[in-house]
Amino acid sequence: MDQDIYDVIILGTGPAGLQAAIHAARTKVSVLVMGREHKSSLFRAHVENYCCITGISGGELLRQGVKQALDSGARFLHEDVIKTSKDNEEFIVVTESDKTLKTRTLIMGMGVSRNRLGVPGEKKYFGQGVSYCVDCDANFYKGSTVAVVGNESAAVSGALTLLFYADKVHLVSDELQVSERLKYQIQESDVDIHLGHKVTEIIGDNTVRGLIMNNGQKLNVDGVFIETGAKGAVELAATLGVALDPEKFQYIVTDKQQQTNIKGIYAAGDICGPPWQMAKAVGEGCVAGLAAAKYAKKMKKNQPKVESRPLLSNDT
Ligand SMILES: Cc1cc2nc3c(=O)[nH]c(=O)nc-3n(C[C@H](O)[C@H](O)[C@H](O)COP(=O)(O)OP(=O)(O)OC[C@H]3O[C@@H](n4cnc5c(N)ncnc54)[C@H](O)[C@@H]3O)c2cc1C
Repeated sequence: MDQDIYDVIILGTGPAGLQAAIHAARTKVSVLVMGREHKSSLFRAHVENYCCITGISGGELLRQGVKQALDSGARFLHEDVIKTSKDNEEFIVVTESDKTLKTRTLIMGMGVSRNRLGVPGEKKYFGQGVSYCVDCDANFYKGSTVAVVGNESAAVSGALTLLFYADKVHLVSDELQVSERLKYQIQESDVDIHLGHKVTEIIGDNTVRGLIMNNGQKLNVDGVFIETGAKGAVELAATLGVALDPEKFQYIVTDKQQQTNIKGIYAAGDICGPPWQMAKAVGEGCVAGLAAAKYAKKMKKNQPKVESRPLLSNDT
């Protein structure tokens, strides 16, 4: 891969992201799709209610979708994005192995995280020391002791972020499922890693005071960040100023072109709210892909020509 700026970067290789990729790439813009098929909700499904297709496993549907996207000209990078930012009219994404990529438009198709820990105290202390968003709440824990719970990029990058705020950061993880680079970063950091452990209870009085692990050990903490998946949509969107639904702050709000309140950022699929169905994800992905490609072409036309400088080189 050797590209100074993409026209469209798509976060998500579920049906929303794949359909967006197929439609965008066919209009001859450069498209990069990020994420992992086996992390799509569809991977575990056996779909019987999608028009014209029956009896196909979600895994097979995804395999075919990836092939269609590749055949249409899209490229893939099987990594999570852990940071997003805006640079004038363009967007920057940073991956879990620290690759920095630039794009004219961004399509968010990261699905929904249905992951709760489901342990005693989690619900009771939500908002009173239990948080699902490091980037939203880290600031409240200046000088405190906190724990992050999870195995993937959200947990590890979240723990590293919290080092800038908290006095002491614990990471409780069953098994680290992140890139070697992120693994190295966390192991070399000041984060106290409790590997091979699960949280069994969150305890406190009016607010969180600690957590108990499955080996019986107690950690005294003021906050517990539950980050059990990839870097969550809410966090990646929030840092870009993307508006979320005003009621639950869980879903991205879009217009009929699937554009968010930020020009050049689109969203599609489960991330835009229920019904959580493949048919809706595919429809929204199609609209987002076409709209993003059109917008990227318009931007390109309006931009003065500059000498191209490669931002990234790898073998994908
Ligand atoms: C058990 C089960 C059964 C289901 N059965 C049906 C059914 O019968 N019919 C039906 O229509 N629907 C069904 N669904 C729902 C359907 O699977 C979803 O509606 C659909 O997959 C949503 O697509 P999506 O593309 O929005 O998100 P997803 O398919 O969830 O894809 C999300 C993608 O985002 C990527 N991602 C997440 N975070 C990041 C990040 N930080 N950086 C990069 N990439 C990221 C993931 O790797 C993944 O590729 C079922 C779901 C489940 C769980």
